[in-house]
Amino acid sequence: MMTERLPEHVDVAIVGGGPVGALLALRLAETGINALAIEARVTTPADPRALALSHASTEALGRVGLWDDSLGATAITRVHISQAGTLGRTELSSAEIGLPALGYVVPYAALAALALDKLKTGKAAVALGTTVTGVDRLARYARLSLATPTGTRYLTANLVVLADGGKLLAELDDVNQHVKSYEQHAILARITPNQPHLGVAFERFADDGPLALLPTGDDYTLVWTQTPAGAEEKLALSDADFLAQVSARFAGRIAGFTRVGHRASWPLALKTLDRVVGRRIAMIGNAAQTLHPVAGQGLNLGLRDAATLADLLAITPAAQAGDPATLARYADLRKKDAGRVTLFTDGLISWFDSPNPLLKHVRSAGLLALDQIGPLRRGFARKMVYGAR
Ligand SMILES: Cc1cc2nc3c(=O)[nH]c(=O)nc-3n(C[C@H](O)[C@H](O)[C@H](O)COP(=O)(O)OP(=O)(O)OC[C@H]3O[C@@H](n4cnc5c(N)ncnc54)[C@H](O)[C@@H]3O)c2cc1C
Repeated sequence: MMTERLPEHVDVAIVGGGPVGALLALRLAETGINALAIEARVTTPADPRALALSHASTEALGRVGLWDDSLGATAITRVHISQAGTLGRTELSSAEIGLPALGYVVPYAALAALALDKLKTGKAAVALGTTVTGVDRLARYARLSLATPTGTRYLTANLVVLADGGKLLAELDDVNQHVKSYEQHAILARITPNQPHLGVAFERFADDGPLALLPTGDDYTLVWTQTPAGAEEKLALSDADFLAQVSARFAGRIAGFTRVGHRASWPLALKTLDRVVGRRIAMIGNAAQTLHPVAGQGLNLGLRDAATLADLLAITPAAQAGDPATLARYADLRKKDAGRVTLFTDGLISWFDSPNPLLKHVRSAGLLALDQIGPLRRGFARKMVYGAR
């Protein structure tokens, strides 16, 4: 619900109404907490990302109306993982664990548009077209400076939640961000396969970087990790040459592609915080951690940040929302899950990035073992479905 007039004070101010901020705002609207989501956008820009979401994430979104047919979600029924130049491969299937899908793929733009729509029409209070330009934190409350369509305004809150993707982190004097650049870019493009994809997703570890194919409608979304120079070179290729290079990397697995849409490139880095809370502030989603997309875990993890904070605030008196004890509890609740998923994603990159030929054989053996050992394979598939916790 759009606010007619900005309040002067709220219990919880949520900066950012992307998928993660919207989930928190809509969850808090179910409680008596006086919360306001502040979102800079009024419409969603084009965005080439496609997001693979676990079953658990779709349930968390569905609980507040953020999962419906307008998203055009595509079910992943099988995932094929392989390493080029070796026999190493494994296949996970939803049928094997008795479920209709291992996960679902949605365009980021569709999910962000639904989030905006639910913020506008649902019970959560939202200020759209409003950018937070400053965060001053005092002992008993925080004060936000806002650039609104009608000029600068100020708002105080017991607790500020940063769900802005991390843009305002530099403002905080008590939280440090660590950035590890992978010196890699992800090339994103919609590509149309020659034959129907039947819900099969691919993860292929090629010598010059991993490629993922996520079934998206009738197409695939390609996520191809390259060095910055490699990405520049791939973007400059003609459509035919680009498709030929992708086809060559999936030779024997996919019967080629007919068309490629707009190609975009995205710099990749791991961004983590020394603490996900500070004075009167808590971070969720990409503001708390930004991961490499190779394992498709960033939003899945961010949604769990939002759900955990919503659960905690629902049992905390509103006046104590930003107290050190509440914030310490939130940080504690998120530590294990966030730590594990971050380590897993970063480890996957280091593990598959090494050119060491010995390691290549070890990786191949690992994939084959996963393929041969039923309980291990099914356990891995269940982790995809219910979240990599
Ligand atoms: C190539 C790629 C592929 C990915 N694939 C997957 C995947 O398969 N699965 C997965 O789980 N994750 C994936 N991710 C990660 C996922 O995209 C992010 O984790 C997710 O979008 C984070 O959501 P968020 O709501 O935290 O932030 P965002 O989506 O960045 O939303 C932030 C919101 O805050 C608003 N905002 C920013 N600053 C301000 C301000 N000062 N004032 C007011 N509003 C503000 C913005 O307008 C925006 O709406 C991928 C990422 C990339 C780059």
